[in-house]
Amino acid sequence: MRIDNPYSCDSCQSKKNPSNGWWLLFVCNVNTEINLHPLKLGEGTVVIPWDDEVADIDGVKHLCGIDCVLKAVARELSKGFTVEK
Ligand SMILES: [Zn+2]
Repeated sequence: MRIDNPYSCDSCQSKKNPSNGWWLLFVCNVNTEINLHPLKLGEGTVVIPWDDEVADIDGVKHLCGIDCVLKAVARELSKGFTVEK
């Protein structure tokens, strides 16, 4: 646990207290199954509840609440689109 350098929200810069229920966002290859149907979905944006081990991995975003999760997801998803004229 980081005592002298607590995590801060990658969206609003709030500092994390140990009791805060935060979220983690990252982009990864998604292999899963839905109703026993295995799926390889390629690269996707994943949001999970806070996990100390995952939080320390490079590239994982730390987010303090639903509002900041939604903003971060919108930013990630918009990277995948280009404006056609
Ligand atoms: Zn935040």
